[in-house]
Amino acid sequence: MVTRVIPVDPFDLVIFGGTGDLARRKIIPGLYRRFVAGQIPVGTRIIGAARGALTDADYRDLARKSIGEFVQEKSRSQEKIESFVAALHFLKIDAMAENGWDDLAKMVRKDVVQVFYFSVGPRLFGPLAKRLNDHNISADNARIVVEKPFGHDLASAQALNQELAEYFDESQIYRIDHYLGKETVQNLMAVRFANILFEPLWNSQYVDHIQITVSETVGVGGRGAYYDKSGAMRDMVQNHLMQLVCLIAMEPPAQFDPDSVRDEKLKVIRALDTVSPNDIVRGQYRAQGDNPSYIEDSENPESKTESFLAMKLKISNWRWNGTPFYLRTGKRLRARKSEIAVVFKDPPHMIFGDNAKHRCNQLLIHLQPNEGMDMRVTIKEPGPGGMRLMDVPLDMSFAEALGEAADNITDAYERLVMDVIRGDQTLFMRGDEVEAAWAWTDPMIEAWKARGDLPKPYDPGSSGPEDALMLMHKEGRRWREIT
Ligand code: NAP
Repeated sequence: MVTRVIPVDPFDLVIFGGTGDLARRKIIPGLYRRFVAGQIPVGTRIIGAARGALTDADYRDLARKSIGEFVQEKSRSQEKIESFVAALHFLKIDAMAENGWDDLAKMVRKDVVQVFYFSVGPRLFGPLAKRLNDHNISADNARIVVEKPFGHDLASAQALNQELAEYFDESQIYRIDHYLGKETVQNLMAVRFANILFEPLWNSQYVDHIQITVSETVGVGGRGAYYDKSGAMRDMVQNHLMQLVCLIAMEPPAQFDPDSVRDEKLKVIRALDTVSPNDIVRGQYRAQGDNPSYIEDSENPESKTESFLAMKLKISNWRWNGTPFYLRTGKRLRARKSEIAVVFKDPPHMIFGDNAKHRCNQLLIHLQPNEGMDMRVTIKEPGPGGMRLMDVPLDMSFAEALGEAADNITDAYERLVMDVIRGDQTLFMRGDEVEAAWAWTDPMIEAWKARGDLPKPYDPGSSGPEDALMLMHKEGRRWREIT
């Protein structure tokens, strides 16, 4: 299978926060891989910017190290690395001060695509936008990429949107959610809208429920103080899980263009019911052996922040009324796994007796650790002995089905950065989408704070608090195992 690479013209990409963790782990390695794929043409400039005093040579060294650490060995070649780093430069710039900006103005060109990646904390987004404008650096078609978290609540997201809107048009703002850059997430749209098979069944008449799990094995150690102000609802549900819900639940857009897709996603968020307290389970991990508890990791003995959250969501619209969406995410769980399961209803009349009960079809969409999809169908167990049924997967592991082409499954960040360069906003969140997601999230957080709800403790390595299991058990349903 030949992979098509869409060529782009030379561009200027400025990474504010160019020495940070995200730049080193994701952005620079991703750009290198795109360079190897022939997508970064000669004449492109990649400019790292931060307050540290680095020379171009230092920055190229930093890039060599990050490629050495985060790019698979088979994609690394000394020659390619040297050609790639030759496009890299560094400027010492403080987002909160005026020094360095005139150097940047001299370096970036206005007659090529300009991308300014704000890979810094959100309090710097506004000051960066202002200075790009005040120093007459950004051209009319410049694009800015902003990282998560986009706001802490509705009011702060609105304030941030307004601040950016003073200097950039919505069509220039790319709010990144790297979940949307995953191959499988985009495949979800392909599977739904490019096949006749699923769409007729994709509604409450045929879908019993949907479950989405994003589980991690790591705790919050190292960034506990930051996480403690956020919690699973703000850190994962409001953005990543919400985006997955939107892609599963949205109506087919009339065209596959950014605003048609984002209009449909927005309608989903606006149709979400506020979740009743009975349908939310919040948890905090306990200590285990030498591993500290959440309370120790957060260094806040009074913390009521959740490191785990499960909830039952209802979407009040024609398509989904009556089909619950169960979401679950947490730290220090049994396995690292991101998965969506679309669980179909039983056939209306089962002719095979008891042994056929509860064998509902499932479409499983695996996002992590290995991307792929599989469909569970019921067949007859082979051999004599009557009509015994069994489930088998119609497996579509991308690695197996695509062969060598699977090597070209790009990391989410590099795909999204190339989308910015091409000017495609489809996989980025629009301002009104982010605000709608906060408008749905805020009242629930305020309510549990007002009630003083305490998160339920759970054991590390488990699948969360017992109550989270009950959320489904009490309705005769089961979570899929976290393995
Ligand atoms: P980080 O490791 O703390 O790096 C921050 C970067 O910003 C450094 O290069 C720092 O360099 C620079 N910086 C700080 N203050 C600055 C200022 N006043 N002016 C100019 N540059 C400044 O942070 P990170 O993990 O890379 O995260 C960056 C952003 O991405 C954050 O918004 C974060 O929430 C988001 N994010 C990160 C990840 C991840 O995996 N790391 C994942 C999702 C989202 P100097 O101190 O030398 O200036």
